[in-house]
Amino acid sequence: MTACQLCTAPDAMPVPLSPSGQADLCPTCAGAMTGPVVDAPHWSCLHDAVWSEDAVVQGMAWRVLTRLGAPWANDLMDICDPSPEVRAWAENGAGAEAPDAIIHRDSNGAVLAQGDTVTLIKDLPVKGAGFTAKRGTAVRGISLVPDNAGHIEGRVEGQRIVILTEYVKKV
Ligand SMILES: [Zn+2]
Repeated sequence: MTACQLCTAPDAMPVPLSPSGQADLCPTCAGAMTGPVVDAPHWSCLHDAVWSEDAVVQGMAWRVLTRLGAPWANDLMDICDPSPEVRAWAENGAGAEAPDAIIHRDSNGAVLAQGDTVTLIKDLPVKGAGFTAKRGTAVRGISLVPDNAGHIEGRVEGQRIVILTEYVKKV
């Protein structure tokens, strides 16, 4: 018998995961990867799993937590802070009922987060502001435009401008 990677139950089977990867999961945990999740004592296992060093285990735990909606799950999400990659993985596979995850990526495909610092990889004329933001300029504390994965906002020469993610590189 194989132990479930999420809850350590002994009746695990290999399960392919969306959007990537595979894990040994018990039927309850496997169902939670794709179907609805209801609050149950079973999910006390997430208190450990969400801190896992294994990104897939942490991502699976985060996915279940985001879909539980229970106060204790929200409290746990407040104190645990997975990497953007883990969050993106967890949200991307969350199923049709979840909102489409908008993931901002820089010119190299690195995931951008609120507050990151980026540099410009080419000179960008700023329309209406009468200046060109020079290649190599650091833009600190960027904001992600929530409904457009191709746009971020940041301050250049004191002006708040919208920048295309394809023209920036995460520092
Ligand atoms: Zn399990």
